[in-house]
Amino acid sequence: MKNKKIDKKPARAGGESILQRPPVVVVLGHVDHGKSSLLEAIKDFKITAKESGGITQHIGAYEVEEKGKKITFIDTPGHEAFSAMRARGTEVADIALLVVDSAQSVQPQTKEAVIAIKRAEIPTIVVLNKIDLPTANPEKIKRELLQIDVVVESMGGKIPSVQVSAKEKTGINELLEIILLVADMHDLKSETEAPVEGLVIESYMDGLKGPVVTAVIKKGVLRKKDIIATDLALAKVKSIQDFKGKEIHEARPSQPAIILGFEKVPAVGEKFKSYKTTEEAMQKLKKEEPKREVGSTVLNLDPAKKVLNIILKGDVFGSLEAIEGMLKNLPQDKVILRILKSEVGDISESDAKLAEMSKATIIGFRVKIGPAVMKFMKNDLENLPAGRQGKLRIKTFDIIYELVQDVRRGLEKSLEAEIVREDIGKLKTLLVFWGEKNRQIVGGKITEGEMRKGIKLEVFRDDKKIGSGRIVNLQRDKKDIDLLKKRDEAGILFEGNVKIEKGDILAAYVEERKKGEL
Ligand code: GDP
Repeated sequence: MKNKKIDKKPARAGGESILQRPPVVVVLGHVDHGKSSLLEAIKDFKITAKESGGITQHIGAYEVEEKGKKITFIDTPGHEAFSAMRARGTEVADIALLVVDSAQSVQPQTKEAVIAIKRAEIPTIVVLNKIDLPTANPEKIKRELLQIDVVVESMGGKIPSVQVSAKEKTGINELLEIILLVADMHDLKSETEAPVEGLVIESYMDGLKGPVVTAVIKKGVLRKKDIIATDLALAKVKSIQDFKGKEIHEARPSQPAIILGFEKVPAVGEKFKSYKTTEEAMQKLKKEEPKREVGSTVLNLDPAKKVLNIILKGDVFGSLEAIEGMLKNLPQDKVILRILKSEVGDISESDAKLAEMSKATIIGFRVKIGPAVMKFMKNDLENLPAGRQGKLRIKTFDIIYELVQDVRRGLEKSLEAEIVREDIGKLKTLLVFWGEKNRQIVGGKITEGEMRKGIKLEVFRDDKKIGSGRIVNLQRDKKDIDLLKKRDEAGILFEGNVKIEKGDILAAYVEERKKGEL
């Protein structure tokens, strides 16, 4: 890397065909840390409302320009999507942004994202978001990242970090500059005269236009009338649009493009190539849709684990495949996600019956709820006592990322909340003033941590727990106080199930109900 400048030969192999290409960037991180907001902020910041007039639909990728250089963003955040696309063997992105809420802390999905990035072996930039919040503490986050082997530059590592507020759109310029810097260091090239290769980022069926495919070009230049094909879907390119929906003549490496002309909807994450003739492309096309192993987890169910049953319905085969891929990437160490059925088509009565029998949630992607099911749901509701939720759970989505996050939340909810105990402090009893029924006033000295009013206590005598209670009131020098620290003398109004004696140790603790973590 050091000698890069000297080593760099003019990029020319067989003519002018190898050219610098813009970086393709993905955004990963824990839910609610601001991935979507960041993508939105960059888009708003760089693309004026007038220009964006054509962006009416979420198409999965966009492009911005900073200092005359372009950057492509994959507009589907989250490592589930990223990993599902990579599972097909194509590198989706050149650079990963790891978004962390700087007023929070490193969370399970931050760690999952780091694992996904490491697997992909692409450079990372740490984005410390929500810096506008008064509680933001980016230094703390950097220290926490250190513990999961993400060493940022200011901690002596190689990973750049940048502080931004997606909400107030601050730090965005700086972030874009760092992206370009990292891209420069990695010298991204592509052959423009090679046959076209590209990656399907989003795909759906439009009633009027037919299959609509957002792709990022990896190699070559895509032009109208080109013949391209994935493993299953073939296209004679009818029209190419940029991400704003404007007709363009060609799409170059790293450029996001909307392609019309596919005969059927290809799957998200599928790779396509160009062919000289339709016949050649047809020969490569796989005739059969691959066999699906839906519900295969049924065979090796671990009885100790909880199971969340779902029925998946999608608009096209490609969506289902992408969704299943992402769902499989959700951690299932504690709860198993079992897909009972995964099918193309609207939500039907038979889906509803299966859902009812197996207590499954029906998840629809870009599908409608059939009229019979609507009636079914209505009856279900009418026969229930007021205020109770119907037995049938149906959820529909238009954006894969939201669907995956919802299923994740469902898995988390099915976990019991864990009660986490934290020791706060200890007090040695020196005096016992008076007692009545279950109350006593005791005096003592704090030997560890602190004591707080209202906090729970355990009473120890000769290292044995003999009872428990709580601090009803806390005093120092006969004055009420909320908190006292180590070495302070404290008077405590104790309420509990034991009679305290001189020399007893009172240990204060808090219990927190922590949401289940996958
Ligand atoms: P995602 O799940 O990672 O995509 O997170 P979202 O982009 O949906 O953001 C989660 C929440 O955080 C939303 O309520 C946002 O409005 C909020 N949020 C995102 N970025 C910022 C920020 O920079 N500052 C503040 N104060 N809030 C933010």
